[in-house]
Amino acid sequence: MRQGLVVGNWKMHGSRASVEALLGSLLDADVAQGAVVARVEAAVCPTYVHLAQALDLCAESSIAVGAQDCSHMQSGAYTGEVAAEMLAELGCHWVILGHSERRQYHAESDDLVAAKLAAAVEAGLQPIVCVGETREQREAGEAQVVVAAQLQGALTGQVGLAALVVAYEPVWAIGTGLTATPEQAQDMHTFIRGCLADIDAVDAAATRLLYGGSVKAANVAQLFAQPDIDGALVGGAALVAEEFQAIIDAAAVAAECHSE
Ligand code: PEP
Repeated sequence: MRQGLVVGNWKMHGSRASVEALLGSLLDADVAQGAVVARVEAAVCPTYVHLAQALDLCAESSIAVGAQDCSHMQSGAYTGEVAAEMLAELGCHWVILGHSERRQYHAESDDLVAAKLAAAVEAGLQPIVCVGETREQREAGEAQVVVAAQLQGALTGQVGLAALVVAYEPVWAIGTGLTATPEQAQDMHTFIRGCLADIDAVDAAATRLLYGGSVKAANVAQLFAQPDIDGALVGGAALVAEEFQAIIDAAAVAAECHSE
């Protein structure tokens, strides 16, 4: 059975004070909720500059910490870049790769995502590879073609799919308040699992697939009720402790239902 996973992508938000406040609330709930923790993995991905603080705060908890990106290079003259190995040495567990904002604002190609994925795996980080179509692509009936190409581009030559997490994040749903319907999300997750199965049928059944795109406490239960939605990658709602905690709680409820 695939364990639920809820990951908060804090994007370029936060200050030392807000990180302390947000994690303080989540850690109080974490201590109080042993049963939830057993059924769901939770992680937060702050900016690079807040990683060390978040790691210190989360050290005794079940909340893991990840980065929002990493370099495809190991070291060298790459001003502004951060190597996967540095993140692993710091104590990060996760790394988000190929987020649509990286693709859009930093022109990240599938080849670059593939190189970052290789670097992350080599460093021992657990990658979350993001895929998703734009509104124009969905309206043109190209959503599956686009997602298949992103998967193929990032995963070609990749072994060990079981340890990989794929986040389906339709670009039109990110930060817009528009969420894919549970049926739209499940359809794409089924399709993604099929694409993964073409690479490795056994591992594909174990790969966790997250949905992301305007997830909030109010809409998450129906999404988590879908058989191929194993959790969520959460942006805006991850910055509000009660919202993020409610999403974790909903994932725990769904995990219990799926196991019955
Ligand atoms: C994201 O940035 O990965 C995301 C899903 O954002 P939001 O939840 O705000 O749509």
